[in-house]
Amino acid sequence: MTAPSLEGVSLTGTGLHLAFGANKVLRGVDLHVDAGKTVTVIGPSGSGKSTLLRVLNRLHEPDAGDVLLDGKSVLKDDPDALRQRIGMVFQHFNLFPHKTVVENIALAPRKLKGMSKTEARDLALAQLELVGLAHKAESRPANLSGGQQQRVAIARALAMKPEVMFFDEATSALDPELVKGVLALMADLGSGGMTMVVVTHEMGFARSVSDTVVFMDHGAVVETGTPGQLFDSPETERLQQFLSQVL
Ligand code: ADP
Ligand code: MG
Repeated sequence: MTAPSLEGVSLTGTGLHLAFGANKVLRGVDLHVDAGKTVTVIGPSGSGKSTLLRVLNRLHEPDAGDVLLDGKSVLKDDPDALRQRIGMVFQHFNLFPHKTVVENIALAPRKLKGMSKTEARDLALAQLELVGLAHKAESRPANLSGGQQQRVAIARALAMKPEVMFFDEATSALDPELVKGVLALMADLGSGGMTMVVVTHEMGFARSVSDTVVFMDHGAVVETGTPGQLFDSPETERLQQFLSQVL
């Protein structure tokens, strides 16, 4: 794929707290991504990584703290409007099985941006081209590999022209041989100027693609730094222990 020209904006979360009952899931998390940069969030299962993403795009309202896009607080904005500015890709892609690939991508631009059928279809085809799947436009999702389906899910998110992209373990459900293609596409988006927050267990990706790596444990950021700092010279015992388990 030729790197697209994408215009990500900066994203900042400050002092984010969230509890589910007595379970303090986020305990004062700060996270900043400069425009066009990639931050990878690593950490053990249950450390609050997915919840952090969900607070940053306001699927959950934080108990305290602020979220800023392009330097402006978005906590008073309409949550639906905010979610249109942040594209999200999950482990399970949830494509509509009875719609074709191109219809899956055109749906949100039609419904949420009021595009005409032709306009949305043209946009969808352009996004499919970008992820190298123009030839699958008329296929049903079930006839694509998991890796191809995940690339369609990425194209679907990009069709909304997001300013930031979130990936939450986007390759965890894929067969090992399909992981590489999806990671390569994500890396291309990052080098094309998208702002990205990537939750991943792929330490190779975290090391080679991130501008900044954030290590979370028990709802808090334990270490933040360049990939070299975190992977080669972890400062805390908790990160050292985590890395010894996953590397
Ligand atoms: P991670 O993504 O790092 O594995 P999560 O953010 O999914 O961690 O979960 C962090 C903690 O928050 C866990 O203890 C989990 O049980 C809890 N949690 C997550 N979502 C909810 C929810 N909707 N309601 C109650 N507890 C939740
Ligand atoms: Mg998670």
